[in-house]
Amino acid sequence: MSNSISEIIKKEKLNKADLSYLLSLEGKERDDFLKQTGNHYINSLGKKVYFRGLVEFSNYCTKDCYYCGIRKGNSSSERYDIDDEAIIDAAKFAHENRYGSLVLQAGERSDKIFTDRVTALLKEIKKATNGELGITISLGEQTEEVYQEWFNAGAHRYLLRIETSNKELYYKIHPKDEQHNFEKRIECLRTLQKVGFQTGTGVMIGLPFQTYDQLADDLLFFKAMNVDMVGMGPFIEHTETPLYKYKDDLWPLQRRFEVALNMIASLRLLMPDINIAAATALQAIDPMGREKALRYGANVIMPNITPTTHRKDYTLYENKPCTDEGAEDCSNCLSIRVEMAGREIGYNQWGDSKHFFNRQIDKQ
Ligand code: SF4
Repeated sequence: MSNSISEIIKKEKLNKADLSYLLSLEGKERDDFLKQTGNHYINSLGKKVYFRGLVEFSNYCTKDCYYCGIRKGNSSSERYDIDDEAIIDAAKFAHENRYGSLVLQAGERSDKIFTDRVTALLKEIKKATNGELGITISLGEQTEEVYQEWFNAGAHRYLLRIETSNKELYYKIHPKDEQHNFEKRIECLRTLQKVGFQTGTGVMIGLPFQTYDQLADDLLFFKAMNVDMVGMGPFIEHTETPLYKYKDDLWPLQRRFEVALNMIASLRLLMPDINIAAATALQAIDPMGREKALRYGANVIMPNITPTTHRKDYTLYENKPCTDEGAEDCSNCLSIRVEMAGREIGYNQWGDSKHFFNRQIDKQ
């Protein structure tokens, strides 16, 4: 390993130049960096990996993000909305299979029919699983009142990805209008923290126009926002979206994948006590993508337990893996994969972010 990499890894505080350098690594130097970071991380935080059963319960969305396959403007997307009974059954499946936690995700809606429905669902899921199943939700920008209502109903973690912390780039991948407002996104993250959620965000890696410096800034943004969890993965272009026109200007898929792992390992150095998810998009590029993420810093994995009939329709990007496996197959396959990565599954554990509790102590 080159001197500069081992020196950077040992540093107490990583700056933007350090991070940019780590993100740009290639070849043998990169392999050494990942290996060393992975070993260091497992030695200090242990081998546990936590399961979150993922239910993508609706792909109706009121927004029009330029990268997303289920954006409102994509008229060729087959829309679905799974009924409450099937969602509760999926939650019971997660509970019976000792997943510890559930993630409820859908396209963004903020009408009262939808927000009331989610409140009722959260209460039902808590009841059906004796309050034992932890619940993360990822349902976009909402008012403080709605966040509070969902928190009171039983959700305790919230994932709201910023997608890029660079304002200029944000408006290249979103329409510049009231519905897609950069500052509002940040404000929502602060509101989630104020309400008491373990709060997560994340970015895409390998977007058109994106640079290593901007990605380094994304990592520093996570730190400055004091987030508890991060989910990030490679950008994969979708044919039915406006960003598809830049397909020839992107990093090759393999490079996007490599930089995504560099991001995970660098973030683990920068924020040792947060939860980092091994995103499914990694596996869309490399069949062992999620296992590699677990080796180099990720500690959360999300088996997809959405009923299979609808799984193929929740395509934020194309070639999404595991869209035709039943929940049981998905779970068995993942257990083996986690073990292959030399990690252990924390069955029946919520696997909360240690950072969340550490920041509560810091506040006192
Ligand atoms: S990224 Fe989320 S909010 Fe944006 S269009 Fe897709 S589902 Fe809707």
